[in-house]
Amino acid sequence: MKYITFRYNGQELIGAVAGDSVAPLRVFSSMEELIRAGGAKDIPPERIPLQEVALLAPIPRPSQDLICLGMNFADHTAEAARFHPTMVREEYAVYFSKRVNEAVADGGIIDSHPDVTERVDYEAEVAVIIGRDAYGVSRERAAEYIFGYTIINDVSAREVQTRHKQFYLGKSLDGFTPMGPCIVTADEFSFPPEIGVRCRVNGELRQNGNTRQWIYGIEDVIADLSAGMTLRAGTIISMGTPAGVGMGFQPPRFLKSGDTVVCEADGIGTLTNTVR
Ligand code: MG
Repeated sequence: MKYITFRYNGQELIGAVAGDSVAPLRVFSSMEELIRAGGAKDIPPERIPLQEVALLAPIPRPSQDLICLGMNFADHTAEAARFHPTMVREEYAVYFSKRVNEAVADGGIIDSHPDVTERVDYEAEVAVIIGRDAYGVSRERAAEYIFGYTIINDVSAREVQTRHKQFYLGKSLDGFTPMGPCIVTADEFSFPPEIGVRCRVNGELRQNGNTRQWIYGIEDVIADLSAGMTLRAGTIISMGTPAGVGMGFQPPRFLKSGDTVVCEADGIGTLTNTVR
């Protein structure tokens, strides 16, 4: 099942995609409510053509900060370490959080904040959405706690990210979290998922990886995090980015106003945003 959040006739609605239309699920007031309910049990007959709706990010205003993995692809770890000495592979997974006041929809704008940063970078990632509260979950049972997957562009202000020791501020500027275009439920993928993830900037292929290259898989991450902390249903965990980000080039190739960034994941779709 593919779920979307969209605006139609001035109303924000949740829906299940059915071909080139969407079935609005009016019993749910938000995607997080739908996730806590375990998804839609039945799909009502009403249909709205997709071309008549304005797509929003699937979880436009997450109730908690995103949890992100840093350096979860070996090839990206190597390019990050070349860029800055603080970005190195650690013995344990690198977790950081990312504030998202309002996630950017497919088709929306990435604000380049020229007064704050000159080093805006892209990171195409597959994110996992937790389906039910998870505490003390073993690796063997981790798959039972996954609601589905979406695409995140973990946009980063590199000089802000590295000068503060922790990544938080450089990852959390307004407009730095494009998300979407939909959430695809976990039953549509094998486990562990093998999802090709790519990023194109102005049509040029920059990143081309697969989730099978994750150093820490979803089962590691859920077991790690839930060992002492409840992961609430609706928690978004962005699993890290492959090589090919702008800071990895010599010289670096950061985003500039007018650039179009397309993040793509097999079985989920494409997330297209313009920098301004
Ligand atoms: Mg990232």
